[in-house]
Amino acid sequence: MVRDQIEARGVADSRVLMAMRRVPRHLFVPDDMRGYAYADEPLPIGDGQTISQPYIVAFMTEALGLGTADRVLEVGTGSGYQTAVLAEIAVEVFTIEIIAALAARAKQVLESLGYVRIRFRTADGASGWPEEAPFDAIIATAAPLVMPPAWPALLKPGGTLVLPVGAGPQSLIRVVRQGSGWREEKLLDVRFVPLIGEREGEPP
Ligand code: SAH
Repeated sequence: MVRDQIEARGVADSRVLMAMRRVPRHLFVPDDMRGYAYADEPLPIGDGQTISQPYIVAFMTEALGLGTADRVLEVGTGSGYQTAVLAEIAVEVFTIEIIAALAARAKQVLESLGYVRIRFRTADGASGWPEEAPFDAIIATAAPLVMPPAWPALLKPGGTLVLPVGAGPQSLIRVVRQGSGWREEKLLDVRFVPLIGEREGEPP
């Protein structure tokens, strides 16, 4: 998986490649999907949600430019697979999931694998985790229509946020905090599940 799907497409950060080699992806997918765990595609994980394609997990992790002393916020724990990849590199990961059943299962798998520097919260991640800010890096794996301004505000100066944005055609965006503002850059066309919650107030 790492050689053919990830290195071959240009991911080169050795910490990311090592993390992708270490995390047992098959433990994060439902039992009936185990045979596809290392396939080049996203997979259903229940509750209408998906575990991202391995390449996208690696690409987003590389785009964060993580250091080993970094504290990272993740919005959208899902299966916990991306959480594990982050925890292989960073010193502390704070992860938020809105669907309680997914959060509980991810916590159980991650704890059984011995990850002790992950903190879990079951909540709407739209406002982030302000009590633990500022973060060196923030990653979202569900797509808001527009970036919640709360997220870049929780970054340290120079910190990096990577998220999908939009409906239908979505873009993966990298946002780097600069002073009281931020700089945005589009990285890829992507397809993620929508961020739950924020569409409720919209006109039909
Ligand atoms: N990183 C995960 C991807 C899961 S899909 C993995 O690789 O398995 C995105 C996840 O975001 C889903 O589990 C979904 O329930 C969650 N999510 C959607 N809206 C959310 C919100 N407002 N706050 C927190 N989590 C949310």
